Amino acid sequence: MDNALSRVLRETDFILGHAVDRFEARFARYCQTEYAVGVDSGTSALELALRACGVEPGDEVITAANTFIATALAITYTGATPVLVDVDPRTHTLDVSALPDAFTERTAAIIPVHLYGQPAEMDPILALARRRGLVVIEDACQAHGATYKGKRVGSLGDAAAFSFYPAKNLGAYGDGGAVVTNDARVAESLRMLRNYGQSQKYVHELRGYNRRLDTLQAAVLEVKLQYLDQWNARRREHAGLYESLLSDAGVTTPETAAYAEHVWHLYVIRAGDRDGLRRRLAERGIATGIHYPVPIHRQPAYADLGYARGAFPATERIAAEALSLPMYAELTPEMIETVAAAVHACTREQVQA
Ligand SMILES: *Cc1c(COP(=O)(O)O)cnc(C)c1O
Repeated sequence: MDNALSRVLRETDFILGHAVDRFEARFARYCQTEYAVGVDSGTSALELALRACGVEPGDEVITAANTFIATALAITYTGATPVLVDVDPRTHTLDVSALPDAFTERTAAIIPVHLYGQPAEMDPILALARRRGLVVIEDACQAHGATYKGKRVGSLGDAAAFSFYPAKNLGAYGDGGAVVTNDARVAESLRMLRNYGQSQKYVHELRGYNRRLDTLQAAVLEVKLQYLDQWNARRREHAGLYESLLSDAGVTTPETAAYAEHVWHLYVIRAGDRDGLRRRLAERGIATGIHYPVPIHRQPAYADLGYARGAFPATERIAAEALSLPMYAELTPEMIETVAAAVHACTREQVQA
């Protein structure tokens, strides 16, 4: 890492430098796509992908109600309206059976979210989209390296957005993101959109932005990409160990769909008294997270979408019951055994209480 960063300091090519080109080429190859375009965050990746694929003000874009707020924000930034659908309670990804009811004349795109590291059920989503001429943008911000029926996420839709926020499976030393695509025109448009809309110096084809991937971050990512598969394999081992240790702990462990190779960005269990379990684990020094405690349609920022409480039952149940246990490559089996033993002890205490 020191060498990679020193090289940028020596070359002083801080803006769209060599490391950006190199990382883009490597990341595209990794995702089994033709092109990768580095941008400044996952949120930008989603927004610019929507714009590059032609989504406009007044359009509607369908996405899952159980996702990080950025998926909806990116839609809003384009001037389009987010239209939410529920998730499958088993996989926590977009419920394909809910899609037909969400389509209107204004639907322009679908954003399936590969949530917690598990790919959404892409084939039926792509088939429905193709029939209606809709764009499909994958939100792959939590799923670097995951596969769907053997194909890498990112290579499945018209374009896909990745985030390199430090806590993601592939994380920079700050913010970063990328869009991958097989469409040369989309890639070309993204390169302009991220760089003031410029096709050549001082010629601005579009009203673009300043949303470039920083060269120092690209250098960091170029180094870390070499380890991503190894780190994802460790996460899978950790998930397997949690699964075997928690099978009789009075909680619901996550399911992996038959089509998926999961990369376990998060290890999300479900518990009836989630808040009690979380408090008891904290008392034992075990930090947990909730992804996500307030679904998009219950956020104050999206009150104007007009969805009622109860509109998306699976999503709301996840919000009430989901608990993310520690998950990262560097965990040891002993640490996982400690966490699992604590979950057992806490659920026993809850039964007695
Ligand atoms: C992290 C994340 C984003 C946003 O990425 P940033 O780099 O933080 O802007 C979007 N969607 C999902 C599902 C995410 O997890």
